[in-house]
Amino acid sequence: MSQEINEDMKSKGSSQMETIWPEGADMGKQEGRYTMKQAIKKWEDGREAGGEAERETLRMEVESKSRNEEFARVAVAVFISRLDPTLEEIDDVKTAVSEAVTNAVIHGYGGKEGIIYIQVTIEGRELSVEIEDRGVGIADVPKAMEPMFTTDLSGERSGMGFSFMEAFMDEVKVVSAPGQGTHVLMKKRIGR
Ligand code: ATP
Ligand code: MG
Repeated sequence: MSQEINEDMKSKGSSQMETIWPEGADMGKQEGRYTMKQAIKKWEDGREAGGEAERETLRMEVESKSRNEEFARVAVAVFISRLDPTLEEIDDVKTAVSEAVTNAVIHGYGGKEGIIYIQVTIEGRELSVEIEDRGVGIADVPKAMEPMFTTDLSGERSGMGFSFMEAFMDEVKVVSAPGQGTHVLMKKRIGR
């Protein structure tokens, strides 16, 4: 791209450079080029319409260990801070991530070794968080998601993890099958 810009400077003269968006800068194309002003307008319109909003993704793989629950929760919070969320929104997302990752560690891998896959996407103001394990899986997902349902026999768990995820996020989807692991997808609109 820097070469393209240099070529551009040669052909157009450097005084014009500031107003030209380099070709291939992924702001769409109209005879190959936009002026900077047009490009910014288009980006703003896209954000407003929720249509061509910028998409950014964070992917992480963490080992199934309790201490990685805090790491995941904080990493996701830092990543979404670019959406300028309220403190409440940050807390909501952290709680949901914490519950899903804890479930993967405790239930999915049963305290044994395994990898937890985390993907966070922001697109405009829409946040998606996916947390996946390749552990034991869940036979009856709707049942598992009922408030106060738990398979834990120690009395330590209250069966409220999924209920918290549903309360704090706009949408929660769980795809799981015995022996195949569990995929939790959560969405939340941040701000405005
Ligand atoms: P709490 O979250 O309140 O400590 P809990 O983990 O039992 O208790 P939920 O998080 O709502 O409650 O989960 C309900 C049940 O769903 C669990 O008891 C477990 O049987 C099952 N479950 C949840 N996540 C997974 C997972 N990743 N893999 C396998 N089973 C899971
Ligand atoms: Mg739980």
